[in-house]
Amino acid sequence: MPWSGIKNPYRIWISEIILQQTRVKQGWDYYLRFIERFPDICSLASANEDEVLKYWEGLGYYSRARNLLKAAKQIEELHGGKFPNTYADIISLPGIGPYTAAAISSFAFGLSYPVLDGNVLRVISRYTSNDGDILSQSTKKEMLKYLQEVFKKVEDPAVFNQAIMNFGAMQCVPSSPECGECIMCKNCKAYEEGIVNMLPVKIKKIKKKKRYFSYFDLEDEAGNRLIFRRDKQDIWQGLYEFLMVESKVLKTLSDAEITKTFDESQIKIKGKITLTKVHEYKHQLTHQTIIAKVYALKCKKIKESGDEMLIANSLSGYAFPRLLDLYLQENKVNYD
Ligand code: SF4
Repeated sequence: MPWSGIKNPYRIWISEIILQQTRVKQGWDYYLRFIERFPDICSLASANEDEVLKYWEGLGYYSRARNLLKAAKQIEELHGGKFPNTYADIISLPGIGPYTAAAISSFAFGLSYPVLDGNVLRVISRYTSNDGDILSQSTKKEMLKYLQEVFKKVEDPAVFNQAIMNFGAMQCVPSSPECGECIMCKNCKAYEEGIVNMLPVKIKKIKKKKRYFSYFDLEDEAGNRLIFRRDKQDIWQGLYEFLMVESKVLKTLSDAEITKTFDESQIKIKGKITLTKVHEYKHQLTHQTIIAKVYALKCKKIKESGDEMLIANSLSGYAFPRLLDLYLQENKVNYD
């Protein structure tokens, strides 16, 4: 992996943030492109949010990208552009929680802070035969306390953290680990008790909320489209989309209803709106399922849009949510 063994705190930070909710295989290219465009704190801090989001487009959880930008600006202001080297300063940066702070502190600065990711929680839960719910804060605290005791004897925190994460990923795997060949089996309590496959315990279930979006992709004869930036505190904040209406159910709208939607949004159009096709998408987020219809529409001319809207001739340079990205690609819209 391009970030393996690096000591540069900026690069460790970027890789850890990417890996928070992204698989290594998918995150790899994003990391390389991001680092090439923003090689240091200064280049990131002086970037604009649209560009940072464009480099993040497709990775999801866009608050990560917005927080990277905020944190880079904070480092410039409070630390003169130098990445802070204490756990307290690192964890005070936007978007950095205990896990990421421990990873940067130990990997970049050799500080004694144990990391506690899913792999580590699994290893500790089995090794100590702890049947607490690893998604609960109390069990996490208990395991952190255990590791802090272990760390008193650890000489190289970076090596230890990397080793235990790799051990969880490669040896003490979620289902049916080969315990007979494990170097830890003599002291592993779950193995001794024969309950390896019952651990770790995860109780919390995520309830997904369903949301219904109707998008209106209106294109005029000159190839102009209406887009606007999602500025509200909600999913996809800072990304662009077409005119959108959220509803409690998703019905197919008639031509009259579509025209009414544009009238109500104070968009001035020359000529009749013609529907060419309705596309349907389903997009899963961690806590939400988005069910969407995208109405592909044509008109003679888009004359004026409301305050928040843009009339764009080319969509390149604007970052869209995954769902619309798919629509644009499928329909070969000028977009990169
Ligand atoms: S013996 Fe099995 S459960 Fe215990 S640490 Fe090794 S792989 Fe994990």
